[in-house]
Amino acid sequence: MIEIRNVNKYFGDHHVLKDITTTVNRGEVVVVIGPSGSGKSTLCRTINRLETIDSGEILIDGVSLPEEGKALAELRSDVGMVFQSFNLFAHKTVLENVTLGPRRVRGVGRKEADERALELLRRVGVAEHRDKLPAQLSGGQQQRVAIARSLAMNPKVMLLDEPTSALDPEMINEVLDVMIELADEGMTMIAVTHEMGFARRAADRVIFMADGAIVEEAAPDTFFTAPSSERAQNFLSKIL
Ligand code: ADP
Ligand code: MG
Repeated sequence: MIEIRNVNKYFGDHHVLKDITTTVNRGEVVVVIGPSGSGKSTLCRTINRLETIDSGEILIDGVSLPEEGKALAELRSDVGMVFQSFNLFAHKTVLENVTLGPRRVRGVGRKEADERALELLRRVGVAEHRDKLPAQLSGGQQQRVAIARSLAMNPKVMLLDEPTSALDPEMINEVLDVMIELADEGMTMIAVTHEMGFARRAADRVIFMADGAIVEEAAPDTFFTAPSSERAQNFLSKIL
């Protein structure tokens, strides 16, 4: 579903993605892990073209990422993105946050958009907060709204960039549970997270990045119990 071929990206003369090559199959859950500054967020952002690349190629369903215009807007709605910082529209209600994309980008009517949004809000357990503003919700609730908002566009793949790292500990599981459910339902996912429990329970594969490169790719059990690279061993010894 996603093919990343020899992708290189520079910020000025800083080489932040170094010849990244990997493939994500339909229904696969890939966890990306690695030290801060290793290029995990940049990699995610290149996949829905929030960042350009300097060389290489990214294909979704065999089609190269569009440069701009309508094709790019469509691509963005096929690739759901959830950020560490929730990024909800502060002056819109929970329900409006979820219906805005489908109504504006997909041209869905109000009634249909509302119904679908409520179904999604129920699924992530926040339907009773539909008329509140994001600031009236806890971080965990806001992040679940953000996931519902992404799902409302019926994305082919979900990118989640450290979705739980801004949350208080007691709220992490309520977001991970939603992610696990999505994974179990067959959603194709790329999740940047250091939550080992999620990786072990839901990931098909772990990608370990360091200094802009993929250092290691392995099944979670293999990666967490017997990482082959010294860099991964070092990293794991610090976070486990
Ligand atoms: P990670 O998500 O693994 O912490 P990032 O992808 O955010 O890493 O960053 C990779 C590197 O690129 C870091 O050195 C970071 O400082 C740099 N970087 C990220 N975004 C920008 C930007 N917009 N301009 C310049 N440098 C950036
Ligand atoms: Mg990051």
